[in-house]
Amino acid sequence: MRADVVVVGGAVMGASVGYWLTRMHPGLDVLIVERDPSFAKAATALSVASVRQQFSTKVNVAISRFGIGFLRDFQGSLGHDVGVPTLGLKENGYLFLGQSAAAPALMGELAAMQCALGACTEVLTPEQTKARFPWLEVGDVTAASFGPRDEGWFDNMGLLAGLRTAAKLQGARFVTDEVVGMDVASGQVQAAVLAKGGRVDCAFVVNAAGTRGAVVAKMAGIDLPVEPRKRTVFVIDAPNARHPHAPLMIDGGYYLRPEQGHWITATVPQNDGPCAADDFEPDLNIFEDVIWEQLYARAPGFDAVKVIRHWVGHYDYNTLDQNAILGPHPDLGNLMFMNGFSGHGLQQSPAVGRGIAEYILTGGWQSIDLSDLGFSRILAGIAFRETEIV
Ligand SMILES: Cc1cc2nc3c(=O)[nH]c(=O)nc-3n(C[C@H](O)[C@H](O)[C@H](O)COP(=O)(O)OP(=O)(O)OC[C@H]3O[C@@H](n4cnc5c(N)ncnc54)[C@H](O)[C@@H]3O)c2cc1C
Repeated sequence: MRADVVVVGGAVMGASVGYWLTRMHPGLDVLIVERDPSFAKAATALSVASVRQQFSTKVNVAISRFGIGFLRDFQGSLGHDVGVPTLGLKENGYLFLGQSAAAPALMGELAAMQCALGACTEVLTPEQTKARFPWLEVGDVTAASFGPRDEGWFDNMGLLAGLRTAAKLQGARFVTDEVVGMDVASGQVQAAVLAKGGRVDCAFVVNAAGTRGAVVAKMAGIDLPVEPRKRTVFVIDAPNARHPHAPLMIDGGYYLRPEQGHWITATVPQNDGPCAADDFEPDLNIFEDVIWEQLYARAPGFDAVKVIRHWVGHYDYNTLDQNAILGPHPDLGNLMFMNGFSGHGLQQSPAVGRGIAEYILTGGWQSIDLSDLGFSRILAGIAFRETEIV
C-alpha cells in the first residue's frame, strides 16, 4: 500500500491534521490509522474540553486566538455542513485566583502580554473579585485574573466528529488498524507498518498517538519525553451552590466549573507520575481528601456535596516542560510530531493541525510560528515551560 501521509492516531490531533492537509491540498492521499475508533480511552473523549486565552507563553496565546474563532463558528470554519453546526461553546470565562504577594504583578504582566495578542484578560483586586463573584471567599486572595470572553468550554466529541467527517468529505482515508513499526533508512521514514494492513510506503508520518506517542516515536528509534498521567475527574452535586454562570476557576491545585446544574472538578494527584497505558482505576479519595476542604473554604455553598459521577483520563504529559512538541525531528525530517499537550491539547487542535499541515506542504511554519515548540529544545534539554498548567 502507499499514501502520501500516514497519520498515527485518529483522535482530535490526527483528525485535525487530516482535515487541514486535505483542505489545503485536495487530492493528497492522507491515511489516518486509528487502533480504537470507539475512542473509549482517548484523551479527546475523556477531556474536560475547556478553552482559554490565559497562557504564559506568546505562542500558546496565539494558538488560542485562532482556536477560539474556529470553535465559535465551527461549521463556518470547517467549510462543510457536517451535521455539527455549533460546539455549544459556553463563554463563562476562566478565573485564576492568586494567593502570593507576587501574584498581582505577575498576573499584570501576563495579562498585558495576552491582551497585546488580542485577549481581554482583566486583573482584579480581591474586592473586585468579591464584587463580581459574591459566592467566593477571597480573604486569602491577593489578585485574580479573569477572561470575560473567548474562554469557556465546548463539545469535545462534536469537534472530533466534525473534523473527521470534514476530512473524509475532502478525501482523507480512515482505517481501523494499529501502527506497529516504521521502516527507517537514509535519514527518512520510508514506510509505516500496520498490524493488519502491512507496509504503507509514504512521504511523511505524523505521530498523533496521544499518550502512546512515546511508543510510536520509539518505532523510529526516537525518545519522546511524553508519558501518560492519570487524572480523575469528579462530577458533583452541590444544592447550596447553584451558579450556572460561574467561570472555570483555578484555585491553587484544583479547578472547578459548572456543568448542567452540577459541577466538574479535578486536581493533580499527590505523587503525580507515569501510569500504565491501561490503568484507568480512579483515585476516588482525591475529592474528599484533597479537593473538598479547599472548595468549602473558598465557597461555603459547597457545604453539602455529593459525588454523582467520576471518570479517569490520561494527560499526554511532556516531562520536560509540559508543552506541546511539534514538527519534524531534526534527524528524521519526514517524521512529524504533535505530542505532549499535557492537558491543553483539545483547544490547540485547530491551530496545531493547521500548523503541521502547513509544515508538511511548505517545509516550514506559516500562519503561526510554532518553532518555540519544536523538537530541537527536547534534544538540547532546554525547557520552554508553560506555567499556566491546569
Ligand atoms: C481529564 C482530562 C481533561 C482535559 N481537559 C482539557 C481541557 O479542558 N482543554 C484542553 O484543551 N485539553 C484538555 N485535555 C487534553 C486533551 O484532551 C488532549 O491533549 C487531546 O485530546 C489530545 O488529543 P490527541 O489526539 O493527541 O490524543 P488522544 O485523544 O489520546 O488520541 C490518540 C489516539 O491515537 C491512537 N493510537 C495510539 N497509538 C496508536 C497506534 N500505534 N496506531 C494507531 N492508533 C494509535 C489512540 O487509540 C487514540 O485514539 C484533557 C485531557 C484529560 C485526560
